[in-house]
Amino acid sequence: MKKIEHIGIAVSDLNKANELYAKILGVNPYKTENVETENVITSFFKCGETKIELLQSTSKDSAISKFIQNRGEGLHHIAFQVEDIKTEIVRLKNLGFKIINDAPKKGADNKLICFIHPKDANHVLIELCQEIK
Ligand code: ZN
Repeated sequence: MKKIEHIGIAVSDLNKANELYAKILGVNPYKTENVETENVITSFFKCGETKIELLQSTSKDSAISKFIQNRGEGLHHIAFQVEDIKTEIVRLKNLGFKIINDAPKKGADNKLICFIHPKDANHVLIELCQEIK
C-alpha cells in the first residue's frame, strides 16, 4: 500500500455536503462524477496528498443507500493506493482476506478498485485503488 488515496463519506444530500466540506476544507470539490455502475454520484476534494470522496446514492438499492438506511450518514470507506491491484488481491487472499470483487472494477476518478470485506478488517470497509494509466 502506498498511501491513503482518499476517505469516502456517505451523504444523503450531496449539494449540502459539498457546501459543508468546502467550508471545512477551504476548497471547492474539483470534480463531481456519476458512477452509474455503483448508482452513486461522487464529489472529490483535495486535501494535501489525499482526497475526500463524498458519495450520494442515486438508487434505493445501492450499497450507499443501504449503508445510510442501516447506519446513517458518515465514514464509509478508506481507500489505499496500490501500484498493482491484481498482485495485492492475490497477496491479501493468500493471507485469508475476503475480497468483495476479485476482478477489479472501474470506480470513480479513473481508478481500478476492489474492496476487502469489512468483517475481515474490524468492520472498516477498505478499498484498494490503482490509477488507470
Ligand atoms: Zn472510494
